[in-house]
Amino acid sequence: MKKNNCCSKNPVIKLPAGERLCKSHFTKYFEGKVFRTIRQFNLIGKKERIVAALSGGKDSLTLLHILNKLSKQNPRIKVEAITIDEGIKGYREKTLKTAKKFCKKNKIKLNLFSFKKEFGLKLDNMIDVLNEKPCTVCGILRRYLLNKKSKELGFTKLATGHNLDDECQSIMMNQFKNNMQASARLGPISGVNKNKKFVPRIKPLYLCTEKETAIYAYSNNLLDNFTECPNITESYRAEIRNMLNDFEQKFPGTKHSIINSFLQILPELKSGFKEQGLNYCNICQEPASKGKCNACRLLDKIKKVK
Ligand code: SF4
Ligand SMILES: [Zn+2]
Ligand SMILES: [Zn+2]
Repeated sequence: MKKNNCCSKNPVIKLPAGERLCKSHFTKYFEGKVFRTIRQFNLIGKKERIVAALSGGKDSLTLLHILNKLSKQNPRIKVEAITIDEGIKGYREKTLKTAKKFCKKNKIKLNLFSFKKEFGLKLDNMIDVLNEKPCTVCGILRRYLLNKKSKELGFTKLATGHNLDDECQSIMMNQFKNNMQASARLGPISGVNKNKKFVPRIKPLYLCTEKETAIYAYSNNLLDNFTECPNITESYRAEIRNMLNDFEQKFPGTKHSIINSFLQILPELKSGFKEQGLNYCNICQEPASKGKCNACRLLDKIKKVK
């Protein structure tokens, strides 16, 4: 057995501290990290109805797989999935198939909604008529539906597969765009200020890196192929992601430093932006910072140009 190997089996990952872990030791390590994150940030109470946002990619499959394990250990924690079909040709059909297959195999209820049915158009068609980046439209409308539907279905928490890399990107994007109000909404748990219109959102993979999550997903056979949305290359996030990966390679530990320093200032950030209060959209009555929510603003724009 090589020095630094966990046991005699083949390693699947080398941790930053140098230890090499085989599949079963890594699985234990990864799940232990997720359960510690849940405890450390008090993400899940004793009795919950959790819905996991399932895109069919590695992060959300990993999330649902681990939450399902938790639910089996603790029957007071109920877990279902919610999937939004935005209507992205060449991508969503494949991930939708993976999501359905996973839920069927694991006997998890899947709640499926689509842009086409809810808003009358697929994302691809919206982009054709709007002068907006696909990810902007997709992000606003998906978040809107996830919150609205989770609330209507009576879930107590909405879990998302955001990992450490995703959070680092969001922190840097908000910093670069001078949008600290958006950063105040980040963190492992958000939307908990007892507002009935918001289902609290939790990120159990908060301290897991993208690489760890990918290795967990593939080594546990949660998905068999990698599909990436064709619109990702057009996003600001992709630029930040490349920059951070480059930095991490040159200066290992950068991403963890970003997260750790962010967690230190997050309580102040949250209390600093609390005063702003929450208003309701005068069209759909969903939460909004001004008179009309971002989703209704976009849908209005679509109606005008159609
Ligand atoms: S990459 Fe952009 S368009 Fe594609 S699913 Fe993600 S947010 Fe939506
Ligand atoms: Zn081992
Ligand atoms: Zn609205």
